[in-house]
Amino acid sequence: MVEQLKSSTPEFLRWTLAVACNHKDFPQWQNPDRVERHLRAVRVCEAAIREGRVLDGICVAAEQCDVDSDNVLGFRIADVVESFGNLETIAETCGQCPANAIKELHPTANAGCFGLMPITNIHVHPVGETIVLGETNLRQLLDKVLSDNCELSSRIAKHFAPTRPAWYGLWIPDSPSLSQRKVQLEVMDELLVSVTDTEVNPAWKLFTAALRVSVKHDFEIRIELCPAGVRDNVNWTVPEHCCRCHAPWKPDLRKSMSSCQICKYQGQPNKCHQGFVQGKRPYWKLRQFLGEQQAALFLEQYRQREGR
Ligand SMILES: [Zn+2]
Ligand SMILES: [Zn+2]
Ligand SMILES: [Zn+2]
Ligand SMILES: [Zn+2]
Repeated sequence: MVEQLKSSTPEFLRWTLAVACNHKDFPQWQNPDRVERHLRAVRVCEAAIREGRVLDGICVAAEQCDVDSDNVLGFRIADVVESFGNLETIAETCGQCPANAIKELHPTANAGCFGLMPITNIHVHPVGETIVLGETNLRQLLDKVLSDNCELSSRIAKHFAPTRPAWYGLWIPDSPSLSQRKVQLEVMDELLVSVTDTEVNPAWKLFTAALRVSVKHDFEIRIELCPAGVRDNVNWTVPEHCCRCHAPWKPDLRKSMSSCQICKYQGQPNKCHQGFVQGKRPYWKLRQFLGEQQAALFLEQYRQREGR
């Protein structure tokens, strides 16, 4: 298996509904990044179960038919959900939780109060390659939608700082007010009906569902716009960007003071910064947790069941 060494990552929104619950017994539980790190494994696990990629309590990564047996990835459900109890206790907590926005997409899914929303129509896999679902870019689509919707344009102008493109202004508040969330929801609803791609990104639908929940119950939602960047093996680098609107830094050269062309912020940009890419967690090699022989035996049974 050849790893992709360098690839670009799209601009995306990282969000979480800041609603306390049993699962959020960690510091900074209102931080979208922290919540994602803590709860992502539950979502990955439930997706595998939904897609039938489970045998004897072990989930196997999708799209692995051509991978040689030594490198097949999986995880034990019990290991992944251990810190939360088990799948049933997770369902008890999230099943009743109004912040579990993913219910709108998958009625029995849990841990649905956070997400990553790429602005392009792609699906990023924890394992395997990024799948392109369509050509749409939400930022560009918004400009198109606003060009013949003056009412929405004026509501945006009333509640948000003006930016060009309008997209960036919407996400400047990291904890938008209720009236701002109403406008954001209206924007997402308008965008979703305007998408002409054959497939609408589930991550877009989930974020829209979360905004709807945050408006209906007046729940706080934390949103952070993360600029497009580059992933290079395990590192993720984001270039210089505006510290207010987070758009890529394009200094306005007509001004004597350094300022952002997109939102008119005056000052210095955020320096480029680096982090680690998410990696394949909770997936790892079957043989690493089952042992060589057990893994071979397990795969034989799994493939037999799949009819391969
Ligand atoms: Zn909850
Ligand atoms: Zn939960
Ligand atoms: Zn800016
Ligand atoms: Zn930054």
